[in-house]
Parts: sequence; C-alpha cells; structure tokens
Amino acid sequence: MYQIRLQNLPAEERSTLRQRLTVWAEERGGSMVDVMVGAETLYMKGVKEDAVELLRTWNGIQSVFSEKAAAHESLAALPSIVEVKAARFGGGSASCIAGPCAVENFDSLMSLAEQLAAAGATGLRGGAFKPRTSPYSFQGLGELGLEMLSAAGKATGLAVVTEVLDVRDLDLVAKHADVLQIGSRNMTNAPLLQEVGRAGLPILLKRGMSATLEEFLFAAEYVALGGAPSIMLCERGLRHFDPAVRNVLDLAAVPALKQRTGLPVIVDPSHGTGVARLVPAMMLAAAAAGADGFLVEVHPNPSASWSDADQALPMDIFSATLPRVAHVLEACERNLHGYSTNLPAEEPKI
Ligand code: PEP
Ligand code: MN
Repeated sequence: MYQIRLQNLPAEERSTLRQRLTVWAEERGGSMVDVMVGAETLYMKGVKEDAVELLRTWNGIQSVFSEKAAAHESLAALPSIVEVKAARFGGGSASCIAGPCAVENFDSLMSLAEQLAAAGATGLRGGAFKPRTSPYSFQGLGELGLEMLSAAGKATGLAVVTEVLDVRDLDLVAKHADVLQIGSRNMTNAPLLQEVGRAGLPILLKRGMSATLEEFLFAAEYVALGGAPSIMLCERGLRHFDPAVRNVLDLAAVPALKQRTGLPVIVDPSHGTGVARLVPAMMLAAAAAGADGFLVEVHPNPSASWSDADQALPMDIFSATLPRVAHVLEACERNLHGYSTNLPAEEPKI
C-alpha cells in the first residue's frame, strides 16, 4: 500500500489527477483504494515499487510513501540542531531543561528559574496541563500556569518547555511556550501529533512508556508530516516489572535513535527512574551515551512537590551535578552549551 499526498489543488484539478492515477494504477495491475472523493491523501495498492517511484515527479503530487517505509524520510529533512533562546541541542552541544513537574505558584517558580539559569540550565520545564494517572490528582494550573511560565522564561531568558495535552489547547499553549512537549501518554495520539506542527514551534516528543523505537519514529513522522519545523526525541524510561524504579531508562535508545535519524535526542532521567537519588548518575550516563539534552525535574522543596515528589532534585544537587555533566560532555568532545567549567563561580571583586 502506498500513500499519495496531493498538493493543495483546486477541486477540479484534484479530481482529474485522481482519475489519471486510477487509470495509471489499473494499467499496472493495481488499483486506487476507495477514499473519499475530494481527499488530499490517496492510497494505491498492487503496483510495483519502482513504478510508484515515478509518481514523485508528477505535477500536483506532494509526496509518495510506502506503508512499509523504514527510512523515515520525513525525519531526514528536519534539522539536526535545534536552537531555542540560549539553548542548543545537537551539533556537539547539549542543553539542560530543568524545573518542577508542575507549575505550582509564581514566586517559587520565578526564584527557582533564576537559580536554574545561574546554575547553567538554558530551558525551563513545568507542566500547566498535567497528564495524571488518577483523575483525582492535581491536573495543573492551566492558563494561569502558562502565564507564570512565560513570565519566568522572559525574566530569565530560559526557553519554556511545556506539555500540550489536547489539540483544543494548542493555540493557548503555543502562545506561552518556546518548545511544545508531547508526553509519553500521547505518543500514539495521531490527531494531536498531526496538529502540533501548525504552531510552528520545535516539538519535544516523548517516547511512549512501552513503545518500540520503530513506533516512536513513526510517531515522530506524524509530527513531521504535520509541518513541525524541528523535532527532538526524548527517552523517558520504559515500563517494566521491578518496583525498585518507576521506569527503566533505555540509554541504548540514545545512540540507536541518533544512528537512525539526525534528530537531537533528549534524556529525561527523572521520569526515567522516578528516584531523585538516581538522577545525577543517569544524567552523567546520558551525557556519555550521546544525549543532546536533559529534561530534569527540580523543585525548591522536593518533598512538598504537588506531583512526582520522589523524583524531584533539590536545587543544590542539581547545581552540583551540572559541572560534572559538562566534564563528561567535554571528555566526549562535546559541550554543555554556553557553560564554561573554567569560569569562577562569582565575578572576582576588586
Ligand atoms: C512530564 O515530563 O511532565 C511528563 C508528564 O512526562 P511523561 O510524559 O514522560 O510521563
Ligand atoms: Mn513529572
């Protein structure tokens, strides 16, 4: 089965092209699959692959994909370096996005953001729409949370990374975010994946908690086909049998994804382990495995966190970990973007 996407054509031209395709397929022993007249995406079956290749050159045809395409062609066209404000992901640079699981209140978010920026983070994370397992758990502050995030982003220069949970919130979230996050639970939500590109922002796509790499890459293809200017893939741990950790962080996915696509790969060691004391070591391991960025939960008072309290790092541990991450990156001939391990902690006073 092949998928044929037409350019945006007037109805009459589209219908003529459709008729030509039907005749062309039948002459080669194939057929067009009956999809709605007027649709811009058509399907053809029963025609040999090398013949179908020729359709790519036809006027009015935007793309031709084989259902079995394993080359992830749409991803190959996307940038391998994503720059957002002071953050740079890819091309030898890694950046750290840090912040609370959920936005809770303005004063603590602002003071945390200032400390994160001073420690070397270049992105601010925080959920305003939270995909909670229980419907009775805190679901996020919604628009108010987004306003707090964008204010903290503006004040500190940090790039705001926040989740869009529902296609109906897309415009609202995009108004406040610098990067749109699609969470693990939504990795298979094709309508959302196809729609987020419309916002014109970079997309941070999290791997489903039990998704294969192939399923993850097809999810990314949906996002790419929807017109997203850039995509970052985020490994966040896989569901498994051992209650000792929340998820198993699949660090082999980092080189595997980088070998199969040119896209930046981000690692989330917070959801990846669910245990704060394991997070620093997993940041170092992710840096060594080739990660282009880190998504880390940090809270001013972890035990009081309204969500994911067990995995939130306190600020002092986060600050002490970043120089080590920078050292590991340097040992691998990469860098923590904009961060110099040689700088004195404070300006020398004369
Ligand atoms: C998050 O990063 O806020 C989050 C909910 O993570 P995940 O989608 O990976 O569970
Ligand atoms: Mn969380």
